[in-house]
Amino acid sequence: MLAVVPPPVTVRVPSKINLHLAVGDLREDGYHELVTVFQALSLADEVTVAVTDDPGVEVYGEGEKSVPTGANNLAWRAVQALAAHVGRAESDSKVRVVLRKGIPVAGGMAGGSADAAATLVGLASLWKLEITRDELADIAAKLGSDVPFALYGGTALGTGRGERLVPVLSRHTFHWVLAFDQKGLSTPRVFTELDRLREEGDPPRIGSHAPVVEALASGDPRQLALLLGNDLQAAAVSLRPGLRRTLRAGVNAGALAGTVSGSGPTCAFLCEDAETALEVAAELSGAGVCRTVRVAHGPVPGARMVGGENDH
Ligand code: ATP
Repeated sequence: MLAVVPPPVTVRVPSKINLHLAVGDLREDGYHELVTVFQALSLADEVTVAVTDDPGVEVYGEGEKSVPTGANNLAWRAVQALAAHVGRAESDSKVRVVLRKGIPVAGGMAGGSADAAATLVGLASLWKLEITRDELADIAAKLGSDVPFALYGGTALGTGRGERLVPVLSRHTFHWVLAFDQKGLSTPRVFTELDRLREEGDPPRIGSHAPVVEALASGDPRQLALLLGNDLQAAAVSLRPGLRRTLRAGVNAGALAGTVSGSGPTCAFLCEDAETALEVAAELSGAGVCRTVRVAHGPVPGARMVGGENDH
């Protein structure tokens, strides 16, 4: 009898920006204690998982040449982690993972983490697993500190290494312009640079996250704009001084405020509304301060299946 091969499953997964990113001191285990407010943005990757006789990863789109396709790909590590978690034999876990990237690689928008989260959701459906999102989040946290947020999306407060999440009420759709830099920045390098800056001097540290949470509840982009803050920004700018010019150009183009996203080098500009975001994007495109400009909105949901019977 012929075995029935299940149809491929496609999952759309959001990028993230940090509206607030407070970095504590270096811990004994080499990590920094973080307090962060994440927002999931409509700029997304799409991940398709399919049963195959030829397992592996294919990458198309934004930064495709700089994404590893072997065992180092976070999506591939997600396949292995989920198979191990449910005790699925290797012979029964042969999948092809196709990544269509919209999220810049090494851009501080957690693209690799997003792909891992999408792979978990896609495989749970492909393999017809009875598994809750919270159980997937436990596996996700082991893959990387930003992976659980990509599962849930929305707006959330993250603590620990960013993996302990509590949802945050956000009343408004916020409109963003994203400026991609010529090449990525390594996250560990940016943290090391921050440690160096802190050893040498006393770079300013952002305050409590509470006002950001209040601004999100009020839904007023002008209030939120005053409160965007990122302790990694000084380190990212120190490694990539041109970002100063990019940040200035976005505000000169009419954005309410700009911030480096996570460890950079992508810059995110908060705008008054969708129309202003388009105007800012057009002007920034012509300013010669970045490689590509995108508009996006948030918050949006986390990793979700798309297309055909899977649409919901
Ligand atoms: P974060 O903000 O979570 O630290 P990032 O958004 O700055 O990450 P990613 O796009 O996740 O950066 O990529 C970081 C590195 O991870 C890349 O340089 C790449 O070599 C590697 N990588 C592994 N898997 C993937 C993937 N699926 N997509 C993109 N990069 C990946």
